[in-house]
Amino acid sequence: MTWMTWIKGMAGRLTVAALAGAAADLFGIGLIASAAWLITRAAEQPPLAVLSVAIVGVRAFATGRGVLRYAERLAGHDVALRAQARTREELYTSLIPAGPLTHRGADLLSRMVDDTDAVQDLLVRCLLPAIAALATGVVAVVIGVFLLPTAAVALLVGLVMAGVLLPLATATASRRWSARLAPARAELASRVADLVHGAADLAAYGAEGRALEAGMAADDRLAALERRQARTGATAMMAGVLAQGLTVVAVVWICTSAAAGTITTTVLALVSLVAFEPVLPLAAAGERLTGVLAALRRLREIKATPPAVHEPSTPVSMPSGPLTIEIQDLAVHHSGRPALDGVSLTLTPGRRVAVVGPSGAGKSTLLSALMRTVDYVSGKILINGIDVRDIASDDVRGVVSGLTQDPYVFQASIKANLRLAGPDASDGRLEQVVQAAHLETWVARTGWDTELGEDGRTLSGGQLQRLALARALLYDPRVLLLDEPAEALDEATADDLMTDLLDATHGRTTLLVTHRLRGLEAVDEIIVLENGKVIQQGTHAQLLKASGYYRALWQAEAMLTS
Ligand code: ADP
Repeated sequence: MTWMTWIKGMAGRLTVAALAGAAADLFGIGLIASAAWLITRAAEQPPLAVLSVAIVGVRAFATGRGVLRYAERLAGHDVALRAQARTREELYTSLIPAGPLTHRGADLLSRMVDDTDAVQDLLVRCLLPAIAALATGVVAVVIGVFLLPTAAVALLVGLVMAGVLLPLATATASRRWSARLAPARAELASRVADLVHGAADLAAYGAEGRALEAGMAADDRLAALERRQARTGATAMMAGVLAQGLTVVAVVWICTSAAAGTITTTVLALVSLVAFEPVLPLAAAGERLTGVLAALRRLREIKATPPAVHEPSTPVSMPSGPLTIEIQDLAVHHSGRPALDGVSLTLTPGRRVAVVGPSGAGKSTLLSALMRTVDYVSGKILINGIDVRDIASDDVRGVVSGLTQDPYVFQASIKANLRLAGPDASDGRLEQVVQAAHLETWVARTGWDTELGEDGRTLSGGQLQRLALARALLYDPRVLLLDEPAEALDEATADDLMTDLLDATHGRTTLLVTHRLRGLEAVDEIIVLENGKVIQQGTHAQLLKASGYYRALWQAEAMLTS
């Protein structure tokens, strides 16, 4: 469904909101006009019957205004929240095919939270108030035309200044301020991030004082800019109120000069005063509109991001049972530069293949291609003979998955962190995977319900990788991918982890990416990648016999550990 069809579907609710908002403001005019007439006329002490219609009018307008305002808020927020929900849904769906690498971290979070809020603001704070202000302004001027046309002209001029020129000015000023504030905000955010994430290094080199000073200076610069921006906003508000006051004075002066009579003068003065009520907030709406439009532009950008991988129009379903993966002459490019070039390998059920090679060789890229988070430019990946491009990428990730680089630990209990990969897993099953990952002693000591700190800060590197391994085993993909599980661990911990990991994956179809060779005698085949190309291929024993990268690295590792 396009936005046009969606808006058509919402037309009823939008109209109710706009009409109710406009009617509430008109009832405000009605209230003030009838009350003004009533008070002025009552001062002349006429018979009560003369006043009775006005009395009923005052009551009806006062009650009706409240009811209409309520209806406007209800219908307006209903449409706005529905629009926001739809935007969020669209954002999620456009992010899934874009793959996990396109927009990351804080930027994505702010787009999901702040930018989708902007959709709500567009309706509730900009569009509906503008409609209400327009309706009220028109009716007030029409009343003026009937009572005293020259006064109506003064009112029209005042309303145009406060309702059109002022919002245009605030929108322009806000655009300028945003351009100046954005880099100042970004600088402060990056200084704070450095202070938080680099705290240990800053303390180690005695640089925390300098870093703090730089952070404070960035904060001061931002605060100074924000103060000046607030001053501009306050000046705009003052200008609006000034326009209101001057218009009322002008209307009264015109009425008096034209000898319009007390009732006409009072009614016109008060109608002018009230007509500004819905118009004055438009200056703030103009200021907000710039941010709203920028947010909508950013959301459109995400929607326009091309999907990272080609999705089939009529997907073939994933074959059941054990899977054989054949990679034939695969080439993958990153930003136009080759990351994999002519890589071939076959992974038959139950077979374990290790991919080794120096950093930047293309090992992770190979896993990404298998998980369908990056597309390939040539070659083929076949799953039981079916071209992987004919299967929905979600289905591929459902069966080809595992331990990613830098596994994330959520701020939740150990159990919840594991259950992420198997929400319905029984306690017995959790115990099984924890045992396979050799975490049982730690879990028994800490307790299943212990909260793990944000990003696993309460875990050691080894515990974190074992937890991730347990999670991958619980997910139990038909083809298990393991990306550098021993990365950043000390030698002894890495050795232990690799031994346990190779035990736990025995008999599973596994592709293991690693930069260290210890323990690889257990796998069925080893592929050595360099600059995106396969330079050696064979078993551990075969590769040790041949001279080349593998044997050299093996000897270097042996020297380091002896
Ligand atoms: P490895 O896992 O063997 O260290 P990678 O597969 O991560 O190697 O990277 C292979 C090459 O592709 C490297 O030159 C790397 O700089 C480049 N590369 C990896 N990911 C991206 C990316 N998202 N954008 C651009 N280049 C990338």
